[in-house]
Amino acid sequence: MDCKEALEKLYLYLDHEILSESERQQIEGHLQWCWRCQQVYQLENNLQNLIRLNGRNDEVPPSFFSKIKNVIAQF
Ligand SMILES: [Zn+2]
Repeated sequence: MDCKEALEKLYLYLDHEILSESERQQIEGHLQWCWRCQQVYQLENNLQNLIRLNGRNDEVPPSFFSKIKNVIAQF
């Protein structure tokens, strides 16, 4: 699995979309060695927690979005 594929699936993974067990394992395996995807995963995970806590996403600091964009732009 390359980063592009991992990132596409990562969003499904974070959204708890239906992924097969093998897809989940591929993503987790990729995250173990790929620090860039790990960064995206952690940022997205934090972001989703913030949104869940606030119940809306207009209170998410804009810096969050720019951080994520910066990380993704490195690919
Ligand atoms: Zn990666």
